[in-house]
Amino acid sequence: MFPDLIERLRKREQQGLLRQRKILESPQSSQVTMDGRDYLAFCSNDYLGLANHLDLIESVSKGARRYGVGASASHMINGHFSAHHVLEEALAEFAGFPQALLFSTGYMANIGAVTALVGREDAIFSDKLNHASLNDAALLSRAKFIRYPHADLALLDQRLSTTNARRKLVISDAVFSMEGDIAPIPELVAVCEKHQAVLLLDDAHGFGVLGRQGRGSLFLPDCGSIHSPNIIYMATLGKAAGVFGAFVAAQAEVIETLIQSAHSYIYTTATPPLLAQALMVSLKLIQQDEWRRNVLTQNIVQLKEALQSLPWKLLPSSTPIQPLMIGESAEAVCISQRLRERGILVPAIRPPTVAQGTARLRISLSAEHQPCDLMRLAEALQEIALQV
Ligand SMILES: *Cc1c(COP(=O)(O)O)cnc(C)c1O
Repeated sequence: MFPDLIERLRKREQQGLLRQRKILESPQSSQVTMDGRDYLAFCSNDYLGLANHLDLIESVSKGARRYGVGASASHMINGHFSAHHVLEEALAEFAGFPQALLFSTGYMANIGAVTALVGREDAIFSDKLNHASLNDAALLSRAKFIRYPHADLALLDQRLSTTNARRKLVISDAVFSMEGDIAPIPELVAVCEKHQAVLLLDDAHGFGVLGRQGRGSLFLPDCGSIHSPNIIYMATLGKAAGVFGAFVAAQAEVIETLIQSAHSYIYTTATPPLLAQALMVSLKLIQQDEWRRNVLTQNIVQLKEALQSLPWKLLPSSTPIQPLMIGESAEAVCISQRLRERGILVPAIRPPTVAQGTARLRISLSAEHQPCDLMRLAEALQEIALQV
């Protein structure tokens, strides 16, 4: 063991930055059992309440009976099952692209897409608040890594005009995971077109939730019907879709390039085909259960109203990610802890995940939350506000 690990861990602990896992003993839902106690939870990405849906559970056991449990090989060797293939076609159609490719996780999809598409002679332009997986992907690709201030398209435009890189790849979260705000997508697309850059849009938190029938951020009203061959769309299937996995959707030649050269696609075991089978059911529910998105929208409106009188303010977000800005890490941790004592789970997000001095409580809403759940959270926060 490296002897300095002890010292480093101790320092983290002293700074209140030691991350700890909690042990969940119930299905994922708005009510969970954790470490032997029941909680009202605001910390899942299961925005539509599908992770625990009986139709999905049923499809998983059907899938297991048909295909067995494991894929037992990579997609390129002998692990590409009919369930994967059918799902890829359905995802491409749903997301509005010619083709789609399944990855095991969103993390791997971003790593694979970026490293397969750009290298040493190229440049990546990345929003400062992008997800860690996109930053890691950029570093691994060895392309020049140029970050621009959050959603600052004038600076992005300027930086794109001064580059002499062979390929220019702009990468952005569609919904920023710690802020909840939505990227200026039409403007991003326009800037990319102007500079012949390709846009990789990470819609981990928009897929299933935003746009017509939950088709994602590119189907938001102000995106009109953006059709640019220069967009590469990525979304995960472990959040609103309630299962596991991710996909990249794009032009056929882009997808073929990923199949040929994305290491995180080629050199890994395919996800169990039973999950692809469940995802077909999830996709159907995402499309048809408009009521889930309507309840979610009502919950967002109600939460904003209920938290208005607090000394802390919600960031301006219209998505199910509703961060309550606190500031100091210790205070955020303290409030999260007091909520927990009252049987409510809301995670405190601290540096290095967010910038110094911007620690926050990240409230995630789901279609499973009831109006009384939101009232309970608001009342608990009001009580805590009087104490701290
Ligand atoms: C969660 C997330 C990912 C990673 O997706 P996984 O499927 O969980 O690996 C990528 N990008 C963003 C913005 C995310 O929030």
